[in-house]
Amino acid sequence: MPSAGIRQPLDIAIAGGGIASMCLARALGDIPNLRVQIFEARQDPGEDGQAFGLGSNAQRALELMDPILRSAIDRAGGVRMDPSARVMMASPGQGHGEWIADIGHEIPQIIVGRGAFQRELQKTISHIPIHTGQRIIKVEDQAASSTGNPCQVKIHLEDGSSRIVDAVIGCDGVNSVVRTAVLLPEHPESVKSSRSGSYHSRTIIPIQDGINAFGDEYCKLKVQNIWIGNGCVVLTDRFDDGKKMQLITNFGGKRTWDREEDWGVLDGEVLKQDLAMEFGDFGKEVWAVRGLQWSGNPCYQCADCSLKAHQRHAKIYAGAVKTHVQTPTYAKGNMCLLGDAAQTISPAQGAGAGQAIEDALALATVMAFVQSPEDIAKAFQVYDSVRRPRRSDVARSSGEAGLFLRGRLEGVGLDMEKMRQYLSKWADNVHNYDAAKMVQELKERMR
Ligand SMILES: Cc1cc2nc3c(=O)[nH]c(=O)nc-3n(C[C@H](O)[C@H](O)[C@H](O)COP(=O)(O)OP(=O)(O)OC[C@H]3O[C@@H](n4cnc5c(N)ncnc54)[C@H](O)[C@@H]3O)c2cc1C
Repeated sequence: MPSAGIRQPLDIAIAGGGIASMCLARALGDIPNLRVQIFEARQDPGEDGQAFGLGSNAQRALELMDPILRSAIDRAGGVRMDPSARVMMASPGQGHGEWIADIGHEIPQIIVGRGAFQRELQKTISHIPIHTGQRIIKVEDQAASSTGNPCQVKIHLEDGSSRIVDAVIGCDGVNSVVRTAVLLPEHPESVKSSRSGSYHSRTIIPIQDGINAFGDEYCKLKVQNIWIGNGCVVLTDRFDDGKKMQLITNFGGKRTWDREEDWGVLDGEVLKQDLAMEFGDFGKEVWAVRGLQWSGNPCYQCADCSLKAHQRHAKIYAGAVKTHVQTPTYAKGNMCLLGDAAQTISPAQGAGAGQAIEDALALATVMAFVQSPEDIAKAFQVYDSVRRPRRSDVARSSGEAGLFLRGRLEGVGLDMEKMRQYLSKWADNVHNYDAAKMVQELKERMR
């Protein structure tokens, strides 16, 4: 039986304080023999202003972990998109402006502000220490050192101090330090993420600006609008109880992100060239997005005015789309990986945070069976055996969806009928996942 015959609490360090970490900490906090603490590099982990969509699978997994985690979406002002998304064509000569399809799921996706959601999650773990401003720079499995206890792990912090714990769970995102410790020396080729080539930008605006730009047609419904072009895609959605609109653009046709840093401000001239190359044939709605996103002083009608407005303000935040091509294992000894640290996937299906939440549910399930440090490695292996195939499937479909959204999927392209057929099954593998069955399977493997 889980959690019986406890000797002394096991020290569990969670690296990173993002969505994955907070959900996991809440679920682990209910297991009596675990003493959990979080190490987060940033001073304020909930400061990020962007929003993301949580699909049916994420909502169900949160509910299974703890209903208070599911209701955190509502407390954070999450907006239910119904239908989940509306897809339109944005290439003249190929049905510009035409409706392609609505995407529906049994439980529609909810768009929620990342920072607001994280702050609500954090309120549910007030009993768990979060060490902010504490970057982990190295993690060592003590089995690797001649003097160490094989069931412990040492973490080194940026301030020069170190801690010995019974296990480390890497929720430290795409450039995870724990990932390096798990994959080296056996899999050096898999440690780093790679750039998919495309780049994206995101901006938040008040909903009234969105209504002015797009008109009621695209704003009165709480729906994610997706305009597919030839090589690029533009999305808009609403969050913060409907008061804010998010604008997302993905350039993936002719331009790639070639800077050393992953994120940055784009120069106006570069933007002008990219606009001409990538969005030259886009219609009014897309130019409205560009004007809003980059100028803060929008022209709602044409490319020229959008560009002029932009040149006055010239602040464009953009970044590379990064993914892990593969992860040969999510666990080694008493270290394991969760969320983007385990495998960062293309954002095209809006599935990454949902995967992190499913991971947290899975890991909390196996950790309930751990009674001593010696049990941890087995729990991590069982977690790996169930989560890796699931994530690989979502990574594959998300990569394909990225090509689709840019009109580049082989055999589909910008053919409206083929696009409709493709969209009729959009992200079904992501949304229809049976998390309750996953929990059952994990329990059976742990017994
Ligand atoms: C453009 C874009 C759009 C997306 N849209 C969606 C969407 O609509 N729906 C969806 O489900 N997902 C979406 N995603 C994916 C989603 O954002 C991620 O999958 C999710 O945030 C991963 O959560 P995480 O907790 O694993 O990692 P993160 O959110 O990256 O958190 C990692 C945390 O670890 C901290 N950290 C990093 N290194 C260290 C260290 N060495 N020591 C201590 N702390 C450290 C970081 O500061 C951070 O707080 C999108 C991603 C992108 C790029």
